[in-house]
Amino acid sequence: MRIANNSGRLALVDGDHILDVESTSGGAFSADPMAVFGRWTELGDWATTVDVAGHPDATALSDAILDAPSPRPRQVFGIGLNYADHAAESGLPLPEKPVVFTKFSSSVAGPDVEVRLPGETVDWEAELVVVIATGGRRIPVAEARSHIAGYTVGQDLSERTVQWQDQPPQFSVGKSFENFAPIGPCIVTLDELTHADALGISATIVAVDGTESVMQEGNTDQLVFSVDELIARLSEIVELLPGDLIFTGTPPGVGAGRDPKRFLVEGETLVTEIEGIGRITQRFVAGAPS
Ligand code: ZN
Repeated sequence: MRIANNSGRLALVDGDHILDVESTSGGAFSADPMAVFGRWTELGDWATTVDVAGHPDATALSDAILDAPSPRPRQVFGIGLNYADHAAESGLPLPEKPVVFTKFSSSVAGPDVEVRLPGETVDWEAELVVVIATGGRRIPVAEARSHIAGYTVGQDLSERTVQWQDQPPQFSVGKSFENFAPIGPCIVTLDELTHADALGISATIVAVDGTESVMQEGNTDQLVFSVDELIARLSEIVELLPGDLIFTGTPPGVGAGRDPKRFLVEGETLVTEIEGIGRITQRFVAGAPS
């Protein structure tokens, strides 16, 4: 099942087609994308009975205006240094436990947005994002999968100067500017993915002159702490809630890890893609006047 948020309404996606859930289900499911996470299994069962592409009310996915598939999560977790190679490029040792920070939820945005640059050191971090369906506390590793709604593509955009300016550093502020947590295009359930634990992930910058440069190219099989381990660890501390997001960390190739360092500038476009899930795109524009 592929679930999207079409202009604020829950929708099923199949290939190039998209179908409204509330109207197709005769009101059995709410149009509110946040309302469905508590009924995820029920939604999945119903979705198997629907032929999206063949439905007379289906419309072209290309005509849809997609917003974040979990637009108002109550919690957004970020995991630092969760790819061994990225830890190395950051000059930091591999953590013994997951390094956790937050992206404040008002930074969540849809898959195709403009981002105002609040500074000159805005960096990219392509990430697999886990969306939580059923929440809970103290979820064992062996049961973690049953709490996952699905995966989506995310960018953990980070203003590096702000991220590191305080002593001790407060990652959350530099990672929570407007539209700094774009996700989408869909939530893809794990049964849709042939190798859910080994997905190619990349970030490409399209420069002002149209030149494309692949900046990150990795695979989620390199995660230091698996998705299941992250769910178990986080839920030892906090209660996971339906619709919560976990940004699972980024592979090597971020701008701050390059020599010379390389950051996003006005007019550039960032394309982030994960195998089997899709791609998201941000266009960077000048920051708000101060
Ligand atoms: Zn990150």
